[in-house]
Amino acid sequence: MAMSFAALAGFVVGALAVLFYRNQIEAPSRAAAADGVETGAALPQGVASVLAVLPSSAVVLDAHDRVLRASSAARAFGLVKGDRLMAAELLALARQVRRDGEIRESEIDVAGHKFGQETTNFAVRVAPLGSYGQVLVLAEDQTERRRVEAVRRDFVANVSHELKTPVGAMSLLAETIQDAADDPEAVSRFAGRMQHEAARLNYLIQDLITLSRIQGAEPIPTPGQVSIDEAIHGAIEYCNTRASAKDIALVTGGTEGLRIWGDDDLLVTALRNLIDNAVAYSPDHTRVVVSVRPAGDSVEISVSDQGIGIPEEALERIFERFFRVDAARSRATGGTGLGLAIVKHVAAAHAGEVSVWSKEGSGSTFTLRLPAFGGTAVAVPPSIPLEAAK
Ligand code: ADP
Repeated sequence: MAMSFAALAGFVVGALAVLFYRNQIEAPSRAAAADGVETGAALPQGVASVLAVLPSSAVVLDAHDRVLRASSAARAFGLVKGDRLMAAELLALARQVRRDGEIRESEIDVAGHKFGQETTNFAVRVAPLGSYGQVLVLAEDQTERRRVEAVRRDFVANVSHELKTPVGAMSLLAETIQDAADDPEAVSRFAGRMQHEAARLNYLIQDLITLSRIQGAEPIPTPGQVSIDEAIHGAIEYCNTRASAKDIALVTGGTEGLRIWGDDDLLVTALRNLIDNAVAYSPDHTRVVVSVRPAGDSVEISVSDQGIGIPEEALERIFERFFRVDAARSRATGGTGLGLAIVKHVAAAHAGEVSVWSKEGSGSTFTLRLPAFGGTAVAVPPSIPLEAAK
């Protein structure tokens, strides 16, 4: 991306230089009149048209640092006000370029112009334009690219860390088993723990694969009509063993026969994660309720538990990858820290959303809101096959 900006900027600088010299030779006086210069000074013919089609911010300064031409992006970003270049760093760069005629590249941060954004990071390229002290400044907003890079770096670091823990534990356990070769009871105990760590590694890899598959498939490539009842049934079946082990009742309720437009595997995956969490973070002998209701052009599926709940300050972070309120507890329950990130992406892939209500000590309710099949949430009587009910 940086390369392409540099290449584009290089091309533009070259093209403008050619235009400038040609116009100096051909028709310098006609040039000023034809270009509709903002501040009254002359701009080589054609330069304004080139700048107008550039996606990045472009500014031409005259020999006295006054702005001769600024693209609307440059003004929108606050780089230019009136006939002044606002970023002091950029102005200093332009003066250096005017002095020695050398093209310069740099990165600058400018106090944010978008709501909630502290600074905007620009890749800039500054070049002399002709022999009258004019300078061309090209600046590309790369804040979003920077943010995505940082998220990717964090993710790779997190994955490495998460993988290291079970792999390290398995390596230690293997050594211990070697040392305990003549104690069959110890060997069996440590082998069991090795199996546990291998299972943990397996969950993590499965969740990583699911997450990357969903992220790569937004929006869903081949959507179809999905029966909510069947998806809930599939998810509950998956979680039953774990729920029974804790004597937790999995109860369904609400409107039957609703359908959404989407991917049944993904919906089952999302519901499975929500129900699995509800069971994992609830005490024994409680209830988890999965209920469905039509909501205009959407269907709402909620999963409620009577569990430990989530502290208010953690609520806005729980959908982040690898965020856990209590890392030790999550690991003890076999959590990978990716379940809710998967749910969030499944919702997004369906053009829906997921929300949470929770109170510490009382329980949590996660609600998936997904677009209904056919634009309105209408229940299909169970006796009519889905295909026939189109
Ligand atoms: P994990 O694999 O750790 O469960 P998730 O992404 O599924 O990862 O959830 C992130 C964190 O959100 C969990 O570690 C837990 O702290 C919290 N959490 C998720 N669901 C519930 C719930 N039903 N009740 C209480 N806490 C929950």
